[in-house]
Amino acid sequence: MAMFEFICPRCHRACTVGPLGTCQNILDSGRACDFEFAIEMEDGNRTYKVKYLKHTNPPAGMPADGAYSWVANSGEYAINQQHLLMSDSLYLDPKNNYLFLWATPSGAQPIAKVIYADQGTVQSASGVIMPLNSKPQNLHHHYGNHEPYFQKISESSNLRVELRQGGSGEYRVYEGNTLIYTYDPVAQSGRQI
Ligand SMILES: [Zn+2]
Repeated sequence: MAMFEFICPRCHRACTVGPLGTCQNILDSGRACDFEFAIEMEDGNRTYKVKYLKHTNPPAGMPADGAYSWVANSGEYAINQQHLLMSDSLYLDPKNNYLFLWATPSGAQPIAKVIYADQGTVQSASGVIMPLNSKPQNLHHHYGNHEPYFQKISESSNLRVELRQGGSGEYRVYEGNTLIYTYDPVAQSGRQI
């Protein structure tokens, strides 16, 4: 299960938070900060709610570009979000220039649909993809299929990812305390340690 390190958007200090945990930093009031990743729609901020609604409803028409994916059942989105945060599968998408968590909650069975603007086609998807290029409070997923250009970074059950701060710097990926990989999205270069 992956742990994430980042500057907490609520208490503005360094924290380590897992999928089921909360920021344990103690505030001036003496209480814990308790920031946690959004899973249910109502737990999320405005950005998360917009993404949640987007990915639980079919598009109004053909998207202008890229791909648009959605699940038929709104509750599934939260279940997939939680499942994905607990995923140990970390990949690089060099085409879209981000690291992401990957999961296939129902194996090869389709769980969502994707519409591709460039092909004008609708396809089934079995995979859940959470790009790690969002702010921690905005982390959310979309659906897709495994692409040949995906690069596996780690499937360690002891995964720890340092998220980038303020749009600069690089991601650092650890297995336990061992640094295994870094990725700099500005230079678009990854390095296996
Ligand atoms: Zn905090």
